[in-house]
Amino acid sequence: MVAPASVRGAATSVTGITGSCLCGAVRCEATGPAGPMMHCHCRTCRKAHGTAFSTIVPVAKPGFRWTAGEHLLAHFESSPGKRRWFCSRCGSQLVSIRDSREEVVLRAGCIDDGQVGPPVAHGWVESVPAWDRIADDLPRFARGLPGAPAVEE
Ligand SMILES: [Zn+2]
Ligand SMILES: [Zn+2]
Repeated sequence: MVAPASVRGAATSVTGITGSCLCGAVRCEATGPAGPMMHCHCRTCRKAHGTAFSTIVPVAKPGFRWTAGEHLLAHFESSPGKRRWFCSRCGSQLVSIRDSREEVVLRAGCIDDGQVGPPVAHGWVESVPAWDRIADDLPRFARGLPGAPAVEE
């Protein structure tokens, strides 16, 4: 599938994103360009979040930092070189970081403030379970968005 220009160029310039986990102990912030935001339906997002899909948005690594509770972070390497970071107290999934990429992928559900989104596409729709239905008109991609790694996000 050819990506519409609106998907390829969907980065949003942001001045500040803040996020936190469910219990509030772990906090983070990001500045700089973010996006594109997408709904990821990959198997590992589904399992990690316990949801039909995870809405995610990448930000550049240099603009990201933890602002509280870093000692409570734990991670799971869900595919080689790709770690999902979560709060060990409440279980909130906060970000994923891949060794090979200069970005931090925020889990949008943990964003509290900042100009970000809206989602521009569905990714990994080949992994949508039989019980789920995608009910909007956003572009759909069998795997990742064009230019994304050919492994689950
Ligand atoms: Zn927490
Ligand atoms: Zn995913």
